[in-house]
Amino acid sequence: MTVLENVSLKEFNTFGVDAKASLFASVKNQLELQEVLKDPRFKNPFLIGGGSNLLFVNSISRPVIHINIGGIKIIDENDDSVIVSAGAGIKWHDLVLWALKNNYGGIENLALIPGNTGTAPIQNIGAYGVELKDVFYNLIAVSIDDCSTHIFDENDCEFGYRDSKFKNEWSHQYVITSVRLMLQKNNHFINTQYGAIEKTLIKKNISNPSIQDVADAVIEIRNNKLPNPKELGNSGSFLKNPIVSKEKTDKLLLEHPNLPHYEFTGNFYKISAGWLIEKSGLKGLREGNVGMHAQQALVLVNYGNATGKELWKFAQKVQQTVAQKFGITLDPEVNIIE
Ligand SMILES: Cc1cc2nc3c(=O)[nH]c(=O)nc-3n(C[C@H](O)[C@H](O)[C@H](O)COP(=O)(O)OP(=O)(O)OC[C@H]3O[C@@H](n4cnc5c(N)ncnc54)[C@H](O)[C@@H]3O)c2cc1C
Repeated sequence: MTVLENVSLKEFNTFGVDAKASLFASVKNQLELQEVLKDPRFKNPFLIGGGSNLLFVNSISRPVIHINIGGIKIIDENDDSVIVSAGAGIKWHDLVLWALKNNYGGIENLALIPGNTGTAPIQNIGAYGVELKDVFYNLIAVSIDDCSTHIFDENDCEFGYRDSKFKNEWSHQYVITSVRLMLQKNNHFINTQYGAIEKTLIKKNISNPSIQDVADAVIEIRNNKLPNPKELGNSGSFLKNPIVSKEKTDKLLLEHPNLPHYEFTGNFYKISAGWLIEKSGLKGLREGNVGMHAQQALVLVNYGNATGKELWKFAQKVQQTVAQKFGITLDPEVNIIE
């Protein structure tokens, strides 16, 4: 393992922001990780995985550890299911492709989500009606403080909508080194209810889809819908769909009967942040090198060599405009590193 100084993180974040790290190390296994955590220069480290959920507002003075731990293996199985363990540095989509190749069902709806497997539990990644927690078995994490190893199950992680304990109480306390999922060998549960999956399958004349068909449909939809960070710097949905009380939703519906809203839990509704942004006149708005994508209102875009500061300033303007118009604060889904 090599420790580098003054490293550009441009290649390590999908916004393509040229933030600098004063100290940087990439670790390939748990031993290297523990070695670097014990290095006094790496006190209070900043962890980076696939860099697809980060906005570096400034250069980063904390030492950076790039988690690059590989390996996919089956650790247990019976006639119906397998428990698969994947290193934190495995690209999430590579794990989906591996599962499909082996005909293991459960994560096909999560195809093409950028980022690494070790980061997937942090915001409980989700798409097309499936969340990581639906297949989660447990994970292994190393304490940043004392390098001790821990196993955390679903209850420990307190998963929520784009949320987990790692985003809250456990933030900056652990490094996730591997994630274990329970996948189905047969009797796959085919989930085509959400988004345009069904429509896409009908278009292809598929009436009895396999997990591979579902993944292909999701990949097609995502490729048509979301800008590829390799071509246009972005970090997917920048802002979260807000969860709003029934009372507030009813009030908004009086004025905006077309407001897209979905029952959440109890007396709460999830409102479409994309709709709020569009109705605030911000969809497709561009200022210099930054803007909200013309087709995807929720996607903040780096059109050129925007700095982190420019991106964050523009995002804050979007938050303020929506708050003024609808009285709703949109929280970032992306980690803002100031
Ligand atoms: C085009 C695009 C589309 C997207 N679509 C979706 C989607 O459909 N659904 C969805 O849920 N998300 C989506 N995202 C967001 C992103 O894919 C997820 O948040 C992903 O889990 C981030 O993984 P990462 O490895 O890139 O994390 P990073 O950005 O590298 O890190 C995210 C956070 O985790 C911390 N961290 C990194 N590695 C570790 C570790 N091993 N242990 C502990 N902490 C760590 C970092 O310090 C940081 O705070 C999208 C992003 C893009 C760019």
